[in-house]
Amino acid sequence: DREEPHYFGAGPAILPTSVLQEAAYDLVSYLNEGLGVGEISHRSKPAMQIIDDTKANLAKLLDIPDTHETFFMQGGGTTGFSSIPYNLIANYAKKTGKVGRAAYAVTGSWSKKAAEEAERLGFDVDVVVNTKDIKFSDIPPYSEWKPIAENTSYLFVCDNETVDGNEFNDIPGPEYLPEGVELVADLSSNILSRKVDVSKYGLIMAGAQKNIGLAGLTIYIIKKSLLEQASDADLKALGVPLVPIAYQYPIVVKNNSAYNTIPIFTAHILKLVTGKLLEEGGLAKIQATDEKKASILYAALAKFPEFYILPVKNPRVRSKMNVVFRLPSAELDDQFVKEASAKGLNGLKGHRSVGGIRASMYNAVTLESVELLVKFVEEFGKTHA
Ligand code: PMP
Repeated sequence: DREEPHYFGAGPAILPTSVLQEAAYDLVSYLNEGLGVGEISHRSKPAMQIIDDTKANLAKLLDIPDTHETFFMQGGGTTGFSSIPYNLIANYAKKTGKVGRAAYAVTGSWSKKAAEEAERLGFDVDVVVNTKDIKFSDIPPYSEWKPIAENTSYLFVCDNETVDGNEFNDIPGPEYLPEGVELVADLSSNILSRKVDVSKYGLIMAGAQKNIGLAGLTIYIIKKSLLEQASDADLKALGVPLVPIAYQYPIVVKNNSAYNTIPIFTAHILKLVTGKLLEEGGLAKIQATDEKKASILYAALAKFPEFYILPVKNPRVRSKMNVVFRLPSAELDDQFVKEASAKGLNGLKGHRSVGGIRASMYNAVTLESVELLVKFVEEFGKTHA
């Protein structure tokens, strides 16, 4: 057992204590059959059941239509964004017989990394918007983005930038995205925090270790038509890189996410977390709580506008998951983190690349924890501003 933590770390993040307790029991003995859940074969019936149940829970939570398939792979967000160009460009080759291009929106540190990686791997990348010069403080309207080039397979966006604290509040529609260009989104740090219209996406990818579970697994929700790929011979003839076998989406799907050894304990945690979210009222309920958490914290910060400095200037694109701010000096930042910690509020230090403070408020962070943080923000503001 443990005292309920008030932990605002950016990931790994806290999980519901009841889930961890159940999982801890199952780690030792699963279904009372004398073996732990991490010890059974990843292709055994109970393991397949865990995968199927998790898929069913996600389908209910996110209203995943029949046009889409859910699967899991070892790895995290980085594995996710590295594997995307291989798979989607191999699909484009199958569909068109051509080498596809990849468009990237660079709106923060993670989409920047994803774009650089696609380029490094040898794909033809077009950066259609890049907000680095304004320190990722806003997301410009689509009308200001560069048009999508001919022969583009997909547009990649990072829906919530975990380090920089910005989040899209809509997705590009047909006025920007030409017919046939797939929308690919990294939802690592905001999946299951609100409803999304899955039918609008070619691919949703999310590392599990923030809103839904432990590190070690990545969730993919893909339009089934994107699972077709050109043969190795055809890819070679076109000069397109072959897809590494463990990351070849069609093979992983064919093997119900167990082509190679899936960390089944991690999958079990996903099942328990998603099951609990369903029991508690699904995404409508979670969304309302997450919006409340964000709104009370932003409101508290806004009471001291000269003191709590928010790098994301446009309130419409401020993240509901990762609230990023800094104080007038690095010393005050440190003092804030230290005094918060003394009150049991932990994990508030900003990412090492940007400094300052970051309060990550994933689903398992309770409204009560956020209320305590709000109180602290107000007290600290009154004393030091
Ligand atoms: N994308 C986003 C949005 C992230 O927040 C992170 C991790 N913080 C990653 C990708 C990379 O994830 P991982 O460390 O699992 O590779």
